[in-house]
Amino acid sequence: MQTEAGKTILIVEDEEKIARFLELELKHEGYQVLKAFTGREGLALAESGRADLMVLDVMLPELNGFEVLRRLRKTSQLPVIMLTARDEVMDKVAGLDGGADDYMTKPFAIEELLARIRLVLKKHVGAQKEETVLTYGALELHPARHEVRYGGEPVELTPREFSLLQVLLENKNIVVSRDTLLQKVCGYDYLGETNVIDVYVRYLRSKLDDVYHVKIIQTVRGIGYCIRD
Ligand code: CA
Repeated sequence: MQTEAGKTILIVEDEEKIARFLELELKHEGYQVLKAFTGREGLALAESGRADLMVLDVMLPELNGFEVLRRLRKTSQLPVIMLTARDEVMDKVAGLDGGADDYMTKPFAIEELLARIRLVLKKHVGAQKEETVLTYGALELHPARHEVRYGGEPVELTPREFSLLQVLLENKNIVVSRDTLLQKVCGYDYLGETNVIDVYVRYLRSKLDDVYHVKIIQTVRGIGYCIRD
């Protein structure tokens, strides 16, 4: 559940009673809530990047839900759950074709909507993780594929070299201490020499800096290492 805590849900619904009810339920679950009562207002808020998920009614003034979704999808993959009227099967099909992540039929049980929100958020986080690429100049590290490239050329690293490079890239511009690196790269129960990190840094430099004539990992004397922009 921690992954969803504090996420912001945008409710786009012109029926104030429903919007208010959803707001209370979502806040009770620990979400932040933004509300819009028209399609146009909803689209603007969705495009502002302040929400993590949008609950979008179909029947709305100004722009209907499908139109909001169609415009949003030109620039954004914000997760969207559509609310459609009962038995409007065509609505559901159109909603999913239009890039909605899920839909709910009104009237709905709040518990079911909450469950779907959790699921869609989780899926979206998973998808983002998979796509993340860490970069530094021509250097690219793909965590999900366990791949490192320099200028498109594959670089062969051992698992520990890879994880050391990943930690430094994830903490770009932050000096990471030898102790932290040791824990993250070798594990908390590591009992070997503490200078093992210096050894891995040397290996990384021989595979990257020396080959491509760059200086990727900086030594911060007495503290640790850093990759700086
Ligand atoms: Ca409506």
